[in-house]
Amino acid sequence: MKTLLLFVLSMVTGAREAAAQDAECDRERAAMVETIRAYAQSDTRALGQQGLSERVLEAMGQTKRHLFIPGRSCSIAYADSPVPIGLGQTISQPYIVALMTQLAAVAPDHVVLEVGTGSGYQAAILARLARKVCTIEIIPQLAETATKTLKDLGYDNVSVRLGDGYQGWPECGPFDAVVVTAALGEVPPPLIDQLKVGGRLVMPVGPGYATQQLTIVEKTAPGKTTTRAVGLVRFVPFTRSQE
Ligand code: SAH
Repeated sequence: MKTLLLFVLSMVTGAREAAAQDAECDRERAAMVETIRAYAQSDTRALGQQGLSERVLEAMGQTKRHLFIPGRSCSIAYADSPVPIGLGQTISQPYIVALMTQLAAVAPDHVVLEVGTGSGYQAAILARLARKVCTIEIIPQLAETATKTLKDLGYDNVSVRLGDGYQGWPECGPFDAVVVTAALGEVPPPLIDQLKVGGRLVMPVGPGYATQQLTIVEKTAPGKTTTRAVGLVRFVPFTRSQE
């Protein structure tokens, strides 16, 4: 009887601790959103005077970043910093995720391609804003973990594929927006081919492990694009499959 009582008591205490922890995570996530909102207002080079849209900020506020990182620590997840996700890769700083999402100009009926699934966090943000997200990851373990995380969290409009994203994913497109989250010296031509006219590609262009120019390519007509660099960023390299 006494053992049963102790057991029930420890269950109640455990549930209370979990609820308190959830509330703390919610507070830290809300603070992160305010940090990136404020930061965006000073980043006029990338965003103009408008800053980030409420839609993007709302998606950042609703997506539980801590569930995408190893250890699931909220104090780590909601600091505005990149976080290692294993195998030499990192999940980008939240501000950069929000910025790239904003620059991709994602609308509710859009089909979006992401190259570089990593943890699946950027894909989850895009999935809240678009109709369908197709994301490609070259490292098998990361593709597998991200697939599971996204499925467990109920993101049923995201498809994850293992492979080299250089060739894009024609069967999933054409795309209204493409977001590349690994750095390469040039924009892969297949990604432009798979972009709709009027669509946008956002990508860090430059060498890996150094600084790159965050670049927006807009497809203005078949075979025609305009390119604009909006600021310096630091991404892990875009690797090519070893054929
Ligand atoms: N968007 C991710 C972070 C990406 S880090 C997130 O939200 O967590 C960059 C990712 O790009 C890494 O996981 C890396 O393995 C992947 N990557 C690098 N080259 C690639 C390629 N050619 N095709 C697909 N993914 C690639």
